[in-house]
Amino acid sequence: MRKISKQKDGKDAALKEYYKLYLLHVRGLKESTIRHYFNSIQTASRFLLEKNLIRHDIYEIGDLQCLYRLRDILYADPEFVELDRRGNRMYSAGLNNYCRFAEGSGFLNATAMTCLDVPVEPRSNVVRENMKWQRSNILRVQALAAAKYACEVDSVHKSFIARKNDKPYMEGHHLIPLLNQGRFEYSLDVYANIVCLCPLCHRMLHYGRKQDLEPILERFWIERCKRFEHSGLSLTEGQFMDLALKNRI
Ligand SMILES: [Zn+2]
Ligand SMILES: [Zn+2]
Repeated sequence: MRKISKQKDGKDAALKEYYKLYLLHVRGLKESTIRHYFNSIQTASRFLLEKNLIRHDIYEIGDLQCLYRLRDILYADPEFVELDRRGNRMYSAGLNNYCRFAEGSGFLNATAMTCLDVPVEPRSNVVRENMKWQRSNILRVQALAAAKYACEVDSVHKSFIARKNDKPYMEGHHLIPLLNQGRFEYSLDVYANIVCLCPLCHRMLHYGRKQDLEPILERFWIERCKRFEHSGLSLTEGQFMDLALKNRI
């Protein structure tokens, strides 16, 4: 039975939960090492909270560039630098390790991703009221890296090389559109629901004909239905096809 993460005050728990599972199952680290990593993120979060730059902790940051900016701010803070020096660079090591995880570098691959499927609470109530389901850029970046930047419709599909990371340009697509979040108890913005697609396939999934999309979506269902279940998303194949085909703009 997988542990279900409950959060009380609208905090975003996805990255925190994923990070813990990643350190444990993907990196195979000892509990004591993981505790060190978590403590350093907590300390870094405290510094950022004092500066009013975040609401709860670093795990709420869904954008990679924003994460880098916050890291730069900490590394420019003499108090943080001094604390880090006294702690044998434990805090910066922990922060750098988290950034590498957020980039999806090294250890994340298709098999690793399935170890991380866990039900995640949807994002905060404030977001829910606005009916705008905020998507995490970090989760998307990680999903593309884990797919090795290959189109999941067909890995032979070619794309151009992206300027920002020198990797084939790919796009993240939510199979069950996020605007359906209201129907689900757990978050749709999870690894299990994000596929890596070449730009042409991505446009096709949004604008293509039903008869062309059905076989692709059926294959995704077979590949992903267990992962949906582990992520707390309960739905039948019929419901999946319905949601994945509809509400496209
Ligand atoms: Zn899409
Ligand atoms: Zn493609």
